[in-house]
Amino acid sequence: MSDMPTPTVDRSGSTQAHGAPAASDRNSLSLSPNGPLLLHDVHLVDTLAHFNRENVPERRPHAKGAGAFGEFETTADVTRWTKAALFQPGVKTRMLARFSTVAGELGSPDTWRDVRGFSLKFYTIEGNYDMVGNNTPIFFVRDPMKFPHFIRSQKRLPDSGLRDNNMQWDFWTLNPESAHQVTYLMGDRGLPKTWRNMNGYSSHTYMWINASGERFWVKYHFHSLQGVENLTGEEAEKIAGADADFHRRDLFNAIKAGDFPQWRLSVQVMPYEDAKTYRFNPFDLTKIWPHADYPLHEVGVMTLNENPANFFAQIEQAGFAPSNIVPGIGFSPDKMLLGRVFSYADAHRARIGTNFDQLPVNRPIVETNTYHADGAMTYHHTGAAAVYAPNSVGRPYSDFEGRVDDGWEADGEMVRQAYFLHPEDDDFGQAGTLVREVFDQDQRDRLVDTVSTILCDGVSEPVLERAFWYWKSIDPTVGAAIEARVRAGADGPNPGFHTEESRAEAADALKQEDTNAEG
Ligand code: NDP
Repeated sequence: MSDMPTPTVDRSGSTQAHGAPAASDRNSLSLSPNGPLLLHDVHLVDTLAHFNRENVPERRPHAKGAGAFGEFETTADVTRWTKAALFQPGVKTRMLARFSTVAGELGSPDTWRDVRGFSLKFYTIEGNYDMVGNNTPIFFVRDPMKFPHFIRSQKRLPDSGLRDNNMQWDFWTLNPESAHQVTYLMGDRGLPKTWRNMNGYSSHTYMWINASGERFWVKYHFHSLQGVENLTGEEAEKIAGADADFHRRDLFNAIKAGDFPQWRLSVQVMPYEDAKTYRFNPFDLTKIWPHADYPLHEVGVMTLNENPANFFAQIEQAGFAPSNIVPGIGFSPDKMLLGRVFSYADAHRARIGTNFDQLPVNRPIVETNTYHADGAMTYHHTGAAAVYAPNSVGRPYSDFEGRVDDGWEADGEMVRQAYFLHPEDDDFGQAGTLVREVFDQDQRDRLVDTVSTILCDGVSEPVLERAFWYWKSIDPTVGAAIEARVRAGADGPNPGFHTEESRAEAADALKQEDTNAEG
C-alpha cells in the first residue's frame, strides 16, 4: 500500500466537520461586501445549525451539578459479603462522581436549600457499577408512582413559572411519608457548605452476594473525610446572589489545586433473613437502619483527583443509572429502587440518545457483546456479526435458565398498597428521633426558625393547618413552636430559600444603589 499523499491545500486553520478546510471563521460568504448572504455558504449554515443544537435537554431533576473523576480503593476485606470485583481487598477502580441540587434548573444557585445528588459511576473490570445516591440517607416518597408528582411540586407553577412554597408543602403534607426527609432538609444539612463537606448515602437498600452465593442486604454510607460542614441561611442566600456556581467552583478549584477530596465508604449489612422480622421495613426508602441495630463496616476510600477535560462531554453527557450493577451486587424489594432501575436509563435514552452508553464517559472499560442494534448515533457496531440469538454462525450469546443468585422470594396477591407490615413502620417515628435525639437545642431552634419563616411565605390554608399537624406529628414541642411562630407572623433568619422578605431586601438594596448613583 502506498503512503497517504500529502494534502496540497493549506490545512493550518480550522476545518469543517467533514474534514475539509474551512475558509473563514470570521467572514461569511456574501454577494459583494454588503450584499446578501448565500445559502451555499456550507460552513456558515453548519456553524449556525450546530450551535442551535449545542444543548441536550437538561435533566428533569438534578439539572444543576458538576463532577470529577477519581479512584475508589477497597481498603478492607468485605469478601464475606460480596464477590464484586471492585470490592475485593486492595482493588483500585477508576470512577466518576457527580453532585447536584434536585429542584433547580441548570443556571440555578448551588446554595439554595435542597437535597444534593451524589451519583457515582465505577468503571469496574466486570462492567460499570453506578450508585445514584443523595447527601441524605432517606427520600421523600416510598413509591415510584409519586416521583414525577413530587418533582413537579418542587419546580414551578404552571401559570407564572414561579417556584411556590404552597405547592411544595401541599405535596409534602399530603404525603406524610416525606416527614423524615423534610426534617433532614430543614435541618442544618439542608445547606451543605461545599460538596466536599457533605456525606453521601446509597439511601436504597441493595443486595450483596458472596462467592458462596449467600445473600445480604446493605446500605452504603460515604463519610466526608473533610468533615460535614454547613452554611447558615444568611450565608447561603448571600452566596446564591454573589456566585450561583459556588459549589461547582469549589470542587473544580480544590481538585485543580491538588487538594483531592475523599470519602470513606462503610456499609451496614443485614443478614438476608433478618429483613422478614426486622422492626422497620428495611426496604422503605423513607427509613434508616439505626446504627445500634446494624453498625458500619469500613469498605474503602474514594478520592476525586481529576477534573473533567470537557464539562459537556464528560458531565452533562454522563448517564448514571442504578440499573448498572455487576456480579456480587443486586437490587432489593425497595420499590423506589425498582422504579429507578427503569426510569434513570430511560431518562438518558430520552435526553442524550438511544446509544448514550456508547459515549466515552459512559462506556465500560470492558468489551461488550450486546445484541442492541442501530439507533441514532450508533458508533460501536458489530460489523457483519449475527444480529439475533440464538444463532449458529458463531456469535456468543447467553442462555442461563434457573434460579438467579441475586433474587428474592415474592409471593402473594397483586395489590396497590403501601407496606406497613413491620411493628415500627410509620411515617413520623424516625423523623421524631432525628429532632429529639440527634439535633441539639440550638439545631431545634434553627429548625423552628427555618420552617416557620418558609411557612409564612406564601403557604395558605388548608396547607398551613396540615403543616402544623405534620410537624406536631413529628414532634409535639417543635410543632407547637412552629405554629406559634407562624401565627405570630414569623420573622426569622433567612432559611436559605427565597422568601418574600429576602426578595424585598434585594429590591431595597437595588433601590438604594440607584439612589446613591443618582446622588
Ligand atoms: P445514631 O445516633 O447512631 O446516628 C445519628 C446520625 O445522625 C449520625 O451518625 C449522623 O450521621 C447523623 N447526623 C448528625 N447530625 C445530623 C444532622 N444535623 N442532620 C441529619 N443527620 C445528622 O442514631 P441512629 O442510627 O439510631 O439514627 C437516629 C437518627 O439519625 C435517624 O432517625 C436519622 O434521622 C439520623 N441518621 C441516621 C443514619 C443512619 O443510617 N442510621 C444516617 C444519618 C442520619 P452520619 O454519621 O452519617 O453523618
